[in-house]
Amino acid sequence: MVIAPSTADTRRSGISFAKRIYLPRIVGLGIGFFCVLAALIPLHPPMPVWGLLIFNGFIWPHIAYQWSIRSEKPFATETRNLLIDALMGGVWAAMMGFNALPTVVILSMMGMNNIASGGHSLFFKGLIAQIIGATLTSALLGFPFHPQTTSQQVYLCLPMIFIYPVFLGFVTYHTAKHLAEKKQELLYISMRDGLTGLYNRRHWEHLLHNEFDSCQRYERTATLILMDIDCFKTINDTYGHAVGDEALTVLAEELLLGLRAVDIVGRYGGDEFGAILPSTTSEQASLALKRIQERLDDITFREAPGLTVKISAGIADYRPYMNNYQAWLKATDGALYQAKKNGRNRQERAPILA
Ligand code: GH3
Ligand code: MG
Repeated sequence: MVIAPSTADTRRSGISFAKRIYLPRIVGLGIGFFCVLAALIPLHPPMPVWGLLIFNGFIWPHIAYQWSIRSEKPFATETRNLLIDALMGGVWAAMMGFNALPTVVILSMMGMNNIASGGHSLFFKGLIAQIIGATLTSALLGFPFHPQTTSQQVYLCLPMIFIYPVFLGFVTYHTAKHLAEKKQELLYISMRDGLTGLYNRRHWEHLLHNEFDSCQRYERTATLILMDIDCFKTINDTYGHAVGDEALTVLAEELLLGLRAVDIVGRYGGDEFGAILPSTTSEQASLALKRIQERLDDITFREAPGLTVKISAGIADYRPYMNNYQAWLKATDGALYQAKKNGRNRQERAPILA
């Protein structure tokens, strides 16, 4: 199922895009200023050109950022800002009379930034913007052409050549690291139950499937337990939903404490829990569960002094005649049903069929 992001989510991700671009733009345009400055000095441009250069190098990054984060569509606004950057790159290339080194440095750094920000689509759009900016400005100035780069201009381009790619590498690395961490977080959330922190039903069943397959392949034993809190509706009705939640959390903790680290515990449904005990027999599982039931008897709840949590459980060993994990689950569920039918607060084992 694909869930469409809400308008608020789209806006939030657009704002974080603008935030990611902000610092690289400050750094890139800030040091790019010196590249252009070095190429423009010998050409003696009029005062407004210097004003425009200072504006583009040091003021524009902040205006572009404010523009994006205040926009209704920050992503679209930031993409347009990147295209303005590219257009201005073309303008400066023409103003410098296409001085070889500064032109190549500025245009290639912008291309690199556009690929990192928006892939090949933004790169090509940026390239078109650069060509438009360069062609119009060059035509306006009568196509000046001074491709020679002096050694002074080479020195003033060096910071841009060294600092900007290293800086962009750092930013890209941190973004990739952040995304990898988010992916891990999402993976964790997708496997867990929000209340108890145990595996959720989907993932727990997936692990049950795996355990069933390895029992079948390696002729191993394993035991499955399904547990359900007795009269849980009454607990909710008598003490409230919050106490009901606490009872679920306490049971989850006791299961984790009372079973081994290799045992796989999950929340199967509302007040139903499952545990897969590899390399165990139903006798051993029954003993472990009995100890858990005894510990539950001793637990008291501050908000509900009269409450003790009782559970009924069905236990079934893996049997080679079971065709699939669902058959194993069904046998365990049948035993749980018997435990409820036989008076609750008890365990029942599934009968051996063949
Ligand atoms: P039985 O002894 O036959 O199991 O009776 P029961 O009252 O426990 O019945 P059942 O197992 O069907 O009740 C499940 C109840 O669990 C119904 C639902 O309102 C409640 N429930 C489901 N999820 C949650 C939850 O996350 N928190 C709380 N507090 N209650 C929940
Ligand atoms: Mg119940």
